[in-house]
Amino acid sequence: MDVTPETSGAGGRATADAARAASISLEGIHKRYPDGTEAVRELSLEVKAGELVVLIGPSGCGKSTVLRMINRLIEPTGGRIMLGDEDVTRVDPVRLRRRIGYVIQNVGLFPHQTVRANVATVPRLLGWPRERSRRRVDELLDLVGLDPSQFGRRYPHELSGGQRQRVGVARALAADPVVLLMDEPFSAVDPIVRTRLQEEFLRLQAEVRKTIVLVTHDLDEAVRLGDRIAVLSQGGHLEQYDTPAALLGEPATPFVREFVGADRGIRRLVVTPLDRETLEPLPAGGPPDAPTVPLRGSAYDALAVMLTSAADRVVVTDEGRPVGVLGRQRVLDLGRTE
Ligand code: ADP
Repeated sequence: MDVTPETSGAGGRATADAARAASISLEGIHKRYPDGTEAVRELSLEVKAGELVVLIGPSGCGKSTVLRMINRLIEPTGGRIMLGDEDVTRVDPVRLRRRIGYVIQNVGLFPHQTVRANVATVPRLLGWPRERSRRRVDELLDLVGLDPSQFGRRYPHELSGGQRQRVGVARALAADPVVLLMDEPFSAVDPIVRTRLQEEFLRLQAEVRKTIVLVTHDLDEAVRLGDRIAVLSQGGHLEQYDTPAALLGEPATPFVREFVGADRGIRRLVVTPLDRETLEPLPAGGPPDAPTVPLRGSAYDALAVMLTSAADRVVVTDEGRPVGVLGRQRVLDLGRTE
């Protein structure tokens, strides 16, 4: 079962990988740590094969515990976890982990090994012939956008944070796992690099279609990446499990409403265009002395200009001509979602 079918070309790889994505089913799982902490009281969750599910919730709600129970870095104290039709608690944990890719925040690359050796870790453990392993490493580095001839011989300290992250993803995918678990994978890099990595990662996922469970505390990341998002509260309690649009549009519980609330207003401003209807007319004496925002901008642009120039209103212009005034309170009202 650890044997990956030999494939050639991107199409072949995508098909073979997709065929090896397994569904995950958490059935009433429970985790009590030896000190008595009930990190997860009872959680049931289905992840379909090839789906990317994000676990999100406040710090300490049990996200990492759930993730690590899937690959048995942490043993559940109750319930059952199925990978496809196999109960993971009945599988040897070491063999299990070789079939589950795992990416963590600071990547955890081996510092004294080259990029090649790092990516080849699991194939080596599985005893793949050297040539097969070499081809797979080339393929994976290409897939994550690192030229093997340029980066293969480097050591982790010779890479940027974003490049290290890509190597981490390549390593997790190397032995064609059936599932990929990612714990805050993009949070150690700066926001611009993070956005780029997220976009690249979505392209990669479109090609390999793994079953992915990703933990984050960043709602933006959850909305951008998730096919579905599971919002957890203390004790691994499942508050809502839905598509990003449903989560933002119809929070199911007061907890979720509060959790997505602050961000929702901003998000709404970003997608609210300015229009003449919402503007106050220009005063008779001419436009006030205030910063300007073009009419084709968004309500978010208007608020950003007010905040950066400490103004409480902006003059909205169309083709450079003032057409109206927008006050701060009016903009905040536009962001209100209730
Ligand atoms: P999250 O990933 O959502 O921040 P965790 O899964 O790390 O949450 O932790 C959930 C709860 O379990 C927290 O209250 C945490 O303090 C506790 N916890 C985590 N690991 C252990 C441990 N090894 N022993 C005891 N309690 C732990």
